Amino acid sequence: MDIIEKLEKNERLNYEDGVALYGLDLFTLGHFANLQRTKRWGKKVYFNINRHINPTNICKDICKFCAFSANRKNPNAYKYTKEEVLNIAKDAYARGIKEVHIVSAHNKEHDLDWYMGIFREIREKFPSLHIKAFTAAEVHFMSELHDLSYDEVLDRMIEAGVESMPGGGAEIFDEKVRAYICKGKVSSQNWLKIHELWHKRGKFSNATMLFGHIEEREDRIDHMLRLREVQDKRQGFNAFIPLVYQRDNNYLKVDKFLGSTEILKTIAISRLMLDNIPHIKAYWASATLNLAMVAQEFGADDLDGTIEKEAIQSAGGAKSAQGQALQDFLDIIITSGFTPVERDSLYNELQVYEEANSGAC
Ligand code: SF4
Repeated sequence: MDIIEKLEKNERLNYEDGVALYGLDLFTLGHFANLQRTKRWGKKVYFNINRHINPTNICKDICKFCAFSANRKNPNAYKYTKEEVLNIAKDAYARGIKEVHIVSAHNKEHDLDWYMGIFREIREKFPSLHIKAFTAAEVHFMSELHDLSYDEVLDRMIEAGVESMPGGGAEIFDEKVRAYICKGKVSSQNWLKIHELWHKRGKFSNATMLFGHIEEREDRIDHMLRLREVQDKRQGFNAFIPLVYQRDNNYLKVDKFLGSTEILKTIAISRLMLDNIPHIKAYWASATLNLAMVAQEFGADDLDGTIEKEAIQSAGGAKSAQGQALQDFLDIIITSGFTPVERDSLYNELQVYEEANSGAC
């Protein structure tokens, strides 16, 4: 059966099919991805009102693609105090923000007790603030730092009030590429294992993929299939987030930008390959807001959030440092013919907007 026939019959796609999808033209791919997207979500575009907090950029690891961590190319090392993190959370809470997304570099001066104290205090003082925190890479770092099992770290996170895990640190699962771009970080196998353990606890998480650097298209398909296999067991991933590699201020030395067609194809293919992950997020901070909006026609159904302060993608050259105003979000979604839906961190719908200024319907 050829690939078009499989798409028409809505059959599950294998590795060879995934690679073959890249050979289709963008609009054929977009047509099939959009069919799947529309079947699930109609014209809805999801976003949340969130605040990213990155407590330190001092890192024991040296990932070649990273522009966020302090090094020779980024001499601006910083480390927030506990009070500074709590003040940011307090301010976010006072302004009605629903989620704090706390991820950081691997700095042993910010150990597990330091973070757990912060999470506990946020939970106690600002109970409606959803805490999304600790990538699988951070769980692995804490497990090594304190000689604890992954189970023990995850249980402590839950006890301190963490409700969901972000999808960072996945990068690319192919072992050869991973060894070159982020040797020393959590292995692919352990990244997947940590999320599986988290899902076993009845908790949800997201999954990312960093693309557009030295990986091949085949590596992206392999990455998606490894996630799909884990997802088949417990459906714990809420969203898949393909992150476009930012080329500035790092040691990877990739000169060319990834073209928009390749970005849109990859988003469309992820919708078609990941038939068991409900949401595909076009992360505007790495893809730009305009392209992330176009991606909603190519399989994506989520733009992420307003973010407010963004330190990781912007360090690599993305124009996302100041986040995005809510009204801009609403305007671009509505003028593109979609319906903005504010969601919570677990994709419960909070507000459906019909017009930019009309509030809920
Ligand atoms: S990607 Fe994360 S783990 Fe790697 S160097 Fe940057 S901050 Fe450290």
